[in-house]
Formats: sequence, structure tokens, C-alpha cells
Amino acid sequence: MCPYCGEECGRDEADIGIGIMYGPWGCGHCGWSESPEYDSRDGIKRDGDDRVLDQYGGSCYVTRPDGIEIIAGGNVRNRGVVK
Ligand SMILES: [Zn+2]
Repeated sequence: MCPYCGEECGRDEADIGIGIMYGPWGCGHCGWSESPEYDSRDGIKRDGDDRVLDQYGGSCYVTRPDGIEIIAGGNVRNRGVVK
């Protein structure tokens, strides 16, 4: 549960062979992240010119392979819900 808006949170999981590695908890509703450096409540953080950080500890290209601008479409904020 998100401490700010009460919505359900999610986190990224990655199987690294010797176990599952988890990213920080993040909220797809308000952008809160367990890890302050990824907190997106005040807007999505830029990571260089062409990448953005999301609340799940991910670093995504601003423009996806299919050409959709992630920032413009708000897909980073909603990623945990959409996928
Ligand atoms: Zn929230």
C-alpha cells in the first residue's frame, strides 16, 4: 500500500539466476517510490537526455522502439498497471 495515496504498489522483479532481485516498491497512481532517488511524485526524473527514471527503479528510454514518447503519453507513471 502506498503511504501517500493508499493505492496498491508494485515492484519490478528480475531473476538473476541465484534468486529474484526486487526493485524498490513504487506506486503507479501517484508516482511514490520507496527509493527517494526514483520518487516521481513531482514529475518523472530525467536520466540523461534520452532516458527517464521511473518509480520502480527502472531507467527507460524517452522514446520507445515504437516511437511513442513515454513522457508525453504518461506511460512511465502507469507502467506497473499497463504491462
Ligand atoms: Zn501512491
